[in-house]
Amino acid sequence: MHRSGATAHASNGSRASEPDAHSANGARAVDVTLANNARSTGQERFPVLEIFGPTVQGEGRVIGRKTLFVRTAGCDYACAWCDSAFTWDGSAKDEIERLDAAQIVERLAELGGEAFAHVTLSGGNPALLPGLGELIDVLHARGAEVALETQGSRWQDWFVRIDQLTLSPKPPSSGMETDWARLDDILSRLEGGGGGGEWSLKVVVFDEIDLDYAIRVHERYPDVSFYVQPGNADLTEPEPARMLSTLAVQYEALVQRIMDEPRLQRVSVLPQLHTWLWGNKRGV
Ligand code: SF4
Repeated sequence: MHRSGATAHASNGSRASEPDAHSANGARAVDVTLANNARSTGQERFPVLEIFGPTVQGEGRVIGRKTLFVRTAGCDYACAWCDSAFTWDGSAKDEIERLDAAQIVERLAELGGEAFAHVTLSGGNPALLPGLGELIDVLHARGAEVALETQGSRWQDWFVRIDQLTLSPKPPSSGMETDWARLDDILSRLEGGGGGGEWSLKVVVFDEIDLDYAIRVHERYPDVSFYVQPGNADLTEPEPARMLSTLAVQYEALVQRIMDEPRLQRVSVLPQLHTWLWGNKRGV
Protein backbone atom coordinates (compact mmCIF):
# COMPACT_ATOMS: atom_id res chain seq x y z
CA MET A 1 0.00 0.00 0.00
CA HIS A 2 1.18 3.33 -0.80
CA ARG A 3 4.86 2.99 -1.39
CA SER A 4 7.06 1.32 -3.92
CA GLY A 5 9.75 -1.03 -2.75
CA ALA A 6 12.34 -3.47 -4.02
CA THR A 7 11.73 -7.14 -4.31
CA ALA A 8 14.81 -8.15 -2.41
CA HIS A 9 14.00 -11.76 -1.69
CA ALA A 10 12.30 -13.94 -4.22
CA SER A 11 11.29 -17.37 -3.12
CA ASN A 12 8.41 -19.78 -2.94
CA GLY A 13 5.43 -19.47 -5.20
CA SER A 14 2.33 -18.41 -3.36
CA ARG A 15 -1.10 -18.59 -4.86
CA ALA A 16 -2.21 -15.13 -5.75
CA SER A 17 -5.09 -13.24 -7.22
CA GLU A 18 -7.77 -15.72 -6.36
CA PRO A 19 -11.10 -14.07 -5.66
CA ASP A 20 -11.17 -13.54 -1.91
CA ALA A 21 -14.41 -14.11 -0.08
CA HIS A 22 -13.48 -11.32 2.30
CA SER A 23 -12.54 -8.79 -0.34
CA ALA A 24 -14.13 -5.40 -0.14
CA ASN A 25 -15.31 -3.66 -3.28
CA GLY A 26 -15.00 -6.83 -5.29
CA ALA A 27 -11.23 -6.56 -5.21
CA ARG A 28 -8.89 -9.48 -5.69
CA ALA A 29 -6.34 -10.41 -3.10
CA VAL A 30 -3.37 -12.65 -2.64
CA ASP A 31 -4.47 -15.62 -0.57
CA VAL A 32 -2.97 -14.70 2.77
CA THR A 33 -4.71 -17.57 4.52
CA LEU A 34 -2.16 -19.92 3.04
CA ALA A 35 0.54 -18.02 4.83
CA ASN A 36 -1.41 -17.98 8.06
CA ASN A 37 -1.67 -21.74 7.98
CA ALA A 38 1.98 -22.42 7.21
CA ARG A 39 3.69 -23.18 10.49
CA SER A 40 6.87 -25.11 9.98
CA THR A 41 8.48 -23.63 13.09
CA GLY A 42 5.46 -23.38 15.32
CA GLN A 43 5.30 -19.66 14.75
CA GLU A 44 2.97 -17.89 12.39
CA ARG A 45 4.44 -17.09 9.02
CA PHE A 46 3.51 -13.95 7.20
CA PRO A 47 3.41 -13.40 3.42
CA VAL A 48 6.24 -10.92 2.85
CA LEU A 49 7.00 -9.34 -0.50
CA GLU A 50 9.70 -6.91 0.46
CA ILE A 51 11.95 -5.89 3.31
CA PHE A 52 14.01 -2.80 2.58
CA GLY A 53 15.71 0.24 4.04
CA PRO A 54 16.86 2.04 5.95
CA THR A 55 15.18 4.90 4.15
CA VAL A 56 12.91 7.79 5.05
CA GLN A 57 9.20 7.46 5.53
CA GLY A 58 7.67 9.34 2.65
CA GLU A 59 4.16 9.99 3.90
CA GLY A 60 1.94 10.94 6.78
CA ARG A 61 2.63 11.65 10.42
CA VAL A 62 6.16 10.27 10.49
CA ILE A 63 7.28 11.73 7.17
CA GLY A 64 11.04 12.02 7.05
CA ARG A 65 11.59 9.46 9.80
CA LYS A 66 14.41 6.99 9.29
CA THR A 67 12.74 3.60 9.03
CA LEU A 68 12.86 0.11 7.61
CA PHE A 69 9.97 -1.26 5.57
CA VAL A 70 8.27 -4.64 5.66
CA ARG A 71 5.73 -5.05 2.87
CA THR A 72 3.16 -7.80 3.18
CA ALA A 73 1.28 -9.34 0.28
CA GLY A 74 -2.45 -9.18 -0.25
CA CYS A 75 -5.03 -6.44 -0.33
CA ASP A 76 -8.81 -6.40 -0.10
CA TYR A 77 -8.96 -3.32 -2.34
CA ALA A 78 -7.98 -2.73 -5.95
CA CYS A 79 -7.46 1.01 -6.18
CA ALA A 80 -7.31 2.40 -9.70
CA TRP A 81 -4.05 4.22 -9.00
CA CYS A 82 -2.45 1.72 -6.62
CA ASP A 83 1.33 2.14 -6.60
CA SER A 84 1.76 -1.30 -5.03
CA ALA A 85 -0.53 -3.37 -7.23
CA PHE A 86 2.09 -6.08 -7.36
CA THR A 87 1.14 -6.92 -3.78
CA TRP A 88 -2.28 -8.14 -4.85
CA ASP A 89 -2.55 -8.51 -8.63
CA GLY A 90 -0.56 -11.73 -8.87
CA SER A 91 2.32 -10.20 -10.84
CA ALA A 92 4.78 -10.80 -7.95
CA LYS A 93 3.27 -13.98 -6.58
CA ASP A 94 6.51 -15.89 -7.07
CA GLU A 95 8.38 -13.38 -4.93
CA ILE A 96 6.30 -13.88 -1.80
CA GLU A 97 8.17 -15.38 1.12
CA ARG A 98 6.52 -16.79 4.19
CA LEU A 99 8.55 -15.56 7.12
CA ASP A 100 7.95 -15.75 10.84
CA ALA A 101 8.59 -12.83 13.15
CA ALA A 102 12.12 -13.94 14.04
CA GLN A 103 13.09 -14.28 10.39
CA ILE A 104 11.70 -10.84 9.59
CA VAL A 105 13.64 -9.28 12.46
CA GLU A 106 16.77 -11.06 11.30
CA ARG A 107 16.37 -9.52 7.84
CA LEU A 108 15.74 -6.11 9.35
CA ALA A 109 18.89 -6.35 11.46
CA GLU A 110 20.89 -7.31 8.38
CA LEU A 111 19.73 -4.12 6.69
CA GLY A 112 19.47 -1.68 9.55
CA GLY A 113 22.01 -2.95 12.03
CA GLU A 114 21.20 -4.33 15.43
CA ALA A 115 20.11 -0.91 16.69
CA PHE A 116 17.38 -0.18 14.18
CA ALA A 117 14.74 1.94 15.86
CA HIS A 118 11.74 2.20 13.57
CA VAL A 119 9.88 -0.19 11.29
CA THR A 120 7.02 0.56 8.92
CA LEU A 121 4.63 -2.26 8.10
CA SER A 122 3.02 -1.73 4.73
CA GLY A 123 1.30 -3.64 2.00
CA GLY A 124 -1.05 -4.39 0.40
CA ASN A 125 -3.12 -4.28 3.49
CA PRO A 126 -1.24 -5.66 6.50
CA ALA A 127 -4.48 -5.46 8.47
CA LEU A 128 -5.52 -8.68 6.69
CA LEU A 129 -3.14 -10.57 8.99
CA PRO A 130 -4.69 -11.31 12.38
CA GLY A 131 -1.42 -12.64 13.82
CA LEU A 132 0.74 -9.65 12.97
CA GLY A 133 0.67 -8.54 16.59
CA GLU A 134 3.32 -11.16 17.23
CA LEU A 135 5.76 -9.30 14.98
CA ILE A 136 4.84 -5.99 16.57
CA ASP A 137 5.59 -7.38 20.01
CA VAL A 138 8.96 -8.76 18.93
CA LEU A 139 9.92 -5.42 17.41
CA HIS A 140 8.87 -3.57 20.55
CA ALA A 141 10.89 -5.98 22.66
CA ARG A 142 13.93 -4.92 20.62
CA GLY A 143 13.17 -1.27 21.29
CA ALA A 144 11.88 -0.43 17.82
CA GLU A 145 8.79 1.65 17.17
CA VAL A 146 6.29 0.34 14.66
CA ALA A 147 4.23 2.30 12.15
CA LEU A 148 1.53 0.85 9.94
CA GLU A 149 -0.76 2.15 7.23
CA THR A 150 -4.06 0.61 6.23
CA GLN A 151 -7.16 1.80 4.45
CA GLY A 152 -9.41 1.14 7.42
CA SER A 153 -11.38 -1.77 6.00
CA ARG A 154 -10.52 -4.21 8.81
CA TRP A 155 -10.02 -4.03 12.55
CA GLN A 156 -7.30 -5.97 14.31
CA ASP A 157 -6.85 -6.00 18.09
CA TRP A 158 -3.15 -5.25 17.66
CA PHE A 159 -3.97 -1.83 16.19
CA VAL A 160 -3.77 -0.41 19.73
CA ARG A 161 -0.16 -1.57 19.96
CA ILE A 162 1.00 0.30 16.85
CA ASP A 163 3.06 3.38 17.66
CA GLN A 164 1.94 5.35 14.61
CA LEU A 165 -1.15 4.01 12.88
CA THR A 166 -2.28 5.73 9.69
CA LEU A 167 -5.80 5.09 8.49
CA SER A 168 -5.97 6.03 4.83
CA PRO A 169 -9.52 5.65 3.50
CA LYS A 170 -9.59 5.80 -0.25
CA PRO A 171 -11.26 8.67 -2.13
CA PRO A 172 -13.64 8.25 -5.09
CA SER A 173 -10.86 8.36 -7.70
CA SER A 174 -9.67 5.01 -6.36
CA GLY A 175 -12.87 3.33 -7.49
CA MET A 176 -13.35 1.95 -3.99
CA GLU A 177 -16.22 2.65 -1.62
CA THR A 178 -15.63 3.53 2.01
CA ASP A 179 -17.41 1.47 4.63
CA TRP A 180 -18.13 4.36 6.96
CA ALA A 181 -19.59 2.16 9.68
CA ARG A 182 -16.38 0.13 9.71
CA LEU A 183 -14.24 3.24 9.86
CA ASP A 184 -16.40 4.61 12.68
CA ASP A 185 -15.93 1.35 14.54
CA ILE A 186 -12.14 1.34 14.09
CA LEU A 187 -11.75 4.89 15.34
CA SER A 188 -14.09 4.24 18.23
CA ARG A 189 -12.08 1.19 19.26
CA LEU A 190 -8.82 3.11 19.02
CA GLU A 191 -10.18 5.83 21.26
CA GLY A 192 -11.31 3.27 23.79
CA GLY A 193 -8.42 0.91 23.34
CA GLY A 194 -6.01 2.21 25.91
CA GLY A 195 -3.01 1.80 23.64
CA GLY A 196 -0.08 4.16 23.88
CA GLY A 197 0.24 4.81 20.18
CA GLU A 198 -0.89 7.61 17.92
CA TRP A 199 -3.32 7.32 15.08
CA SER A 200 -4.13 9.66 12.25
CA LEU A 201 -6.13 9.88 9.06
CA LYS A 202 -4.69 10.51 5.64
CA VAL A 203 -6.45 11.09 2.34
CA VAL A 204 -4.82 11.14 -1.08
CA VAL A 205 -6.34 13.79 -3.33
CA PHE A 206 -6.35 13.65 -7.11
CA ASP A 207 -9.23 16.00 -7.93
CA GLU A 208 -12.05 18.13 -6.56
CA ILE A 209 -14.26 15.13 -5.89
CA ASP A 210 -11.48 13.62 -3.79
CA LEU A 211 -11.12 16.93 -1.97
CA ASP A 212 -14.83 16.85 -1.12
CA TYR A 213 -14.24 13.37 0.24
CA ALA A 214 -11.33 14.62 2.34
CA ILE A 215 -13.56 17.32 3.78
CA ARG A 216 -16.17 14.70 4.59
CA VAL A 217 -13.58 12.59 6.39
CA HIS A 218 -12.29 15.55 8.38
CA GLU A 219 -15.78 16.72 9.32
CA ARG A 220 -16.71 13.21 10.44
CA TYR A 221 -13.60 12.83 12.62
CA PRO A 222 -12.64 16.41 13.51
CA ASP A 223 -10.47 15.47 16.49
CA VAL A 224 -8.25 13.03 14.64
CA SER A 225 -4.96 14.32 13.21
CA PHE A 226 -5.55 14.75 9.51
CA TYR A 227 -3.17 14.68 6.57
CA VAL A 228 -3.78 15.17 2.89
CA GLN A 229 -1.38 14.61 0.04
CA PRO A 230 -1.59 14.88 -3.74
CA GLY A 231 -1.79 11.61 -5.60
CA ASN A 232 0.81 10.40 -8.04
CA ALA A 233 -1.00 9.88 -11.33
CA ASP A 234 2.08 8.86 -13.30
CA LEU A 235 3.05 5.37 -12.19
CA THR A 236 4.98 4.52 -15.36
CA GLU A 237 7.59 7.29 -15.58
CA PRO A 238 10.96 5.64 -14.85
CA GLU A 239 12.98 8.83 -14.44
CA PRO A 240 12.48 10.63 -11.10
CA ALA A 241 13.85 13.94 -12.38
CA ARG A 242 11.16 14.10 -15.04
CA MET A 243 8.45 13.78 -12.39
CA LEU A 244 9.70 16.40 -9.98
CA SER A 245 8.33 19.55 -11.59
CA THR A 246 4.90 17.97 -12.06
CA LEU A 247 4.84 16.77 -8.46
CA ALA A 248 5.78 20.23 -7.23
CA VAL A 249 3.05 21.85 -9.28
CA GLN A 250 0.49 19.36 -7.98
CA TYR A 251 1.59 19.91 -4.40
CA GLU A 252 1.45 23.68 -4.73
CA ALA A 253 -2.02 23.46 -6.27
CA LEU A 254 -3.26 21.32 -3.39
CA VAL A 255 -1.68 23.63 -0.83
CA GLN A 256 -3.41 26.61 -2.41
CA ARG A 257 -6.73 24.81 -2.66
CA ILE A 258 -6.62 23.89 1.02
CA MET A 259 -5.58 27.35 2.09
CA ASP A 260 -8.74 28.55 0.38
CA GLU A 261 -10.96 25.89 1.97
CA PRO A 262 -12.56 27.02 5.24
CA ARG A 263 -13.68 23.51 6.14
CA LEU A 264 -10.10 22.28 6.31
CA GLN A 265 -8.36 24.07 9.14
CA ARG A 266 -6.70 21.46 11.36
CA VAL A 267 -4.99 19.75 8.48
CA SER A 268 -1.44 19.11 7.30
CA VAL A 269 -0.69 19.11 3.58
CA LEU A 270 2.24 16.88 2.74
CA PRO A 271 3.96 15.82 -0.46
CA GLN A 272 4.70 12.18 -1.16
CA LEU A 273 8.31 12.75 -0.22
CA HIS A 274 9.75 9.56 -1.65
CA THR A 275 8.32 10.29 -5.10
CA TRP A 276 10.12 13.63 -5.09
CA LEU A 277 13.40 11.84 -4.43
CA TRP A 278 12.98 8.55 -6.23
CA GLY A 279 9.89 8.77 -8.42
CA ASN A 280 8.38 5.35 -9.02
CA LYS A 281 11.56 3.48 -8.15
CA ARG A 282 11.10 0.48 -5.87
CA GLY A 283 13.19 -0.43 -2.85
CA VAL A 284 13.99 3.04 -1.56
S1 SF4 B 1 -5.55 -0.11 -0.40
FE1 SF4 B 1 -5.50 0.52 -2.54
S2 SF4 B 1 -3.58 1.67 -2.76
FE2 SF4 B 1 -3.41 0.46 -0.86
S3 SF4 B 1 -2.41 -1.47 -1.54
FE3 SF4 B 1 -4.62 -1.81 -1.56
S4 SF4 B 1 -5.20 -1.40 -3.70
FE4 SF4 B 1 -3.18 -0.46 -3.36
